[in-house]
Amino acid sequence: MTTPARDALVPAIILFGSPGSGKGTQARLLQGCLRGPHISTGDMLRSHIQAGDAIGHQTELLIKSGRLVADEMVNELVQQRLQDADCQFGIILDGYPRTTNQAEVLLTFMGSLGYRPAVVHLMVDYDKIVARLSGRRQCPVCGTLYSMKTNPPKVAGICDLDGAKLMTREDDRESVIRERLNQYELQTRPLLEFFRQAGVPMLEINAAEASPDQISQEICRSLNSAGLMLATSDGSAIGLR
Ligand code: ADP
Repeated sequence: MTTPARDALVPAIILFGSPGSGKGTQARLLQGCLRGPHISTGDMLRSHIQAGDAIGHQTELLIKSGRLVADEMVNELVQQRLQDADCQFGIILDGYPRTTNQAEVLLTFMGSLGYRPAVVHLMVDYDKIVARLSGRRQCPVCGTLYSMKTNPPKVAGICDLDGAKLMTREDDRESVIRERLNQYELQTRPLLEFFRQAGVPMLEINAAEASPDQISQEICRSLNSAGLMLATSDGSAIGLR
């Protein structure tokens, strides 16, 4: 098992927000300023579905209907992933934790591995969320997200990065979007209060108006000025690229 550097707490950025708030997009952009992999439970589960394995079979129907997968399953997936060597300088979590049980398990596990969690809350109005999700396309190869209105690919329907044909996620249909937002309100939004009570630092970022690049710069600036990048014992910030 690989554990993070022992002379410093390793930043674990928890990207938090409703479906469509830009967590996946920001996780990818933040890799420009933070060391550490983007860990998306949604992407992990979708790759199990694509592989047609046991986890894929158990979760496919839940995901397609917009409901949450069992806590034990995602907790296990994330705990295994956090022990990989590429997590030693930091991690960016996207879509996890999503329930109180997941948050409790994560905080305990992170404490034992020497991670320092910080929540980045991406705030976007409800109306914008629905419009964004219904016009969303994703590259099945590299996972890059596009929006038909605000962030279209250069060639319609084709990924700028690898030329793959873009897909609409099955759970981006309107009835499923409503269920995902419902699950967020019921199970996930209350975690904001949980994090506050647990004393986890939280940055509130207005993620509605500015471009994805501007939002990502704002997040990096805020993390840095809040001292939430990785600091070594000599005080230098090695969580910064
Ligand atoms: P979004 O944040 O836009 O809803 P994700 O890709 O993060 O998209 O998640 C897609 C689906 O995967 C969720 O609706 C849920 O069914 C499942 N899922 C992802 N992360 C979790 C999690 N932490 N706990 C339970 N289910 C999850």
